Amino acid sequence: MITNRDEAGGLATDEEAQVIVVGAGPAGSAAAAHLARAGVDVLLLEKSDFPREKVCGDGLTPRGVRQLLRLGIDVGAPGWMRNRGMRWVCEGNQVELDWPRLGSGPDFGLTRSRHDFDDLLAAHARGSGARLRTRVRVTAPVTDPAGRITGVTAQGPDKEPLRYRAPLVVAADGASARTALALGLERDTARPVAAAARRYYRSEARTHDPYLELWADLRCPRTGGDLPGYGWLFPLGDGRVNVGLGALPRPGRRPVELRAVLDHWVSRMPAHWDVREETADSPLRSAPLPMGLNRRPQYRRGLLLVGDSAGMISPWSGEGIAQSMEAAELAAEVITLALARPEGPRREHALHHYPVELRRRWGRYYRLGNLAGEVLFSRYGYRPLLHPRVMAAPPLLRVLARLLTQPVDGPAHDTVDALLHTLLRLVPAPRR
Ligand SMILES: Cc1cc2nc3c(=O)[nH]c(=O)nc-3n(C[C@H](O)[C@H](O)[C@H](O)COP(=O)(O)OP(=O)(O)OC[C@H]3O[C@@H](n4cnc5c(N)ncnc54)[C@H](O)[C@@H]3O)c2cc1C
Repeated sequence: MITNRDEAGGLATDEEAQVIVVGAGPAGSAAAAHLARAGVDVLLLEKSDFPREKVCGDGLTPRGVRQLLRLGIDVGAPGWMRNRGMRWVCEGNQVELDWPRLGSGPDFGLTRSRHDFDDLLAAHARGSGARLRTRVRVTAPVTDPAGRITGVTAQGPDKEPLRYRAPLVVAADGASARTALALGLERDTARPVAAAARRYYRSEARTHDPYLELWADLRCPRTGGDLPGYGWLFPLGDGRVNVGLGALPRPGRRPVELRAVLDHWVSRMPAHWDVREETADSPLRSAPLPMGLNRRPQYRRGLLLVGDSAGMISPWSGEGIAQSMEAAELAAEVITLALARPEGPRREHALHHYPVELRRRWGRYYRLGNLAGEVLFSRYGYRPLLHPRVMAAPPLLRVLARLLTQPVDGPAHDTVDALLHTLLRLVPAPRR
């Protein structure tokens, strides 16, 4: 570490690395861990101290579990709560759908509070060799005269100005996307940003439920209309449940009052669940859900965007942890290969592969999801998908469940996969 004076005369720390990762949520910690495991010298800068709270539903589908396993995380250790599948509830009907057994992938999901999850992941990144610096708030990217990123400025734990240098920066700073914005990467305003809120309750009756429960028939008490989203009740296995809901913005309408919908829903729950005001274990907290790949391109002038900073939350389901970690692995792979090339046009060419590959893997699925959000979910919520006839038709439900949780890229594992791959091939590929 070199310590010197910065231009303003203040004391600046000039720490250098091959890659700087801004933000140690699932995107940043996964990217840093993959990079470090590949032998890349990586600095992971995080404004908070761990453990810290993050507003989330705390639910992972097998897609997310797969990413944890690929990182070498022991999901059999205490603290993880396994689930078998999803339970959809609508109009007094309910149906349980087990996660499919596909190829060699995991056939279970997990829950764990983000308070623990993010701490564990950041520690894993550090254990893999990344240099983790907490209580370091990145304030701006530093660029050379050509506009290419050369590092970041930051504020340290005692508000001291700091500077870090690297030829490549991964922006994993979440929904605020400050680093991307500073480099001129604006959000596509045609893509929706949903809002979601969650609250913890103590419920012995529900905390060990083997299913992630989703409700599709929630109503807005003020208007009587359907919630343009769905509600969830996720077991944490530690005496608590995570209860929350997400809502898409409705064209020309006021934002949904999430608290009113939640209170109304909770009042409908059976008394023996013990989910009520008196058993609440936290305040209700909300946060935005940037979705549908709403910030592009995901690579520009030395900066790669991963996770919520690029709006990678699925427009089908509101799931974002698995997507963040998958994109992080891809970004790390592209960076590792690019760093093996000499600085200049050849390396640049390799880095441009990141958005190209993202588009190839997810482009059509997100495009169709954005359309479904616009014409269906934002107007009628999820109720039409769970029509009693659909709920009584297991094959249809299996297709629906796979569609909502994102079909796996690569060769089809079964007929449902094959069907969805064919459907997605009919969607025109996005141009950028
Ligand atoms: C209510 C709600 C429920 C949700 N439920 C689920 C769910 O059940 N399952 C699921 O898969 N997804 C869920 N999501 C989505 C999921 O939370 C996000 O997609 C996911 O957290 C994205 O990870 P990320 O690493 O990109 O961003 P984040 O998790 O937001 O992490 C960003 C990190 O960057 C740090 N940071 C920000 N600015 C700076 C800075 N200037 N300098 C240094 N550090 C900085 C932050 O402190 C944070 O640690 C939910 C979201 C909400 C709001």
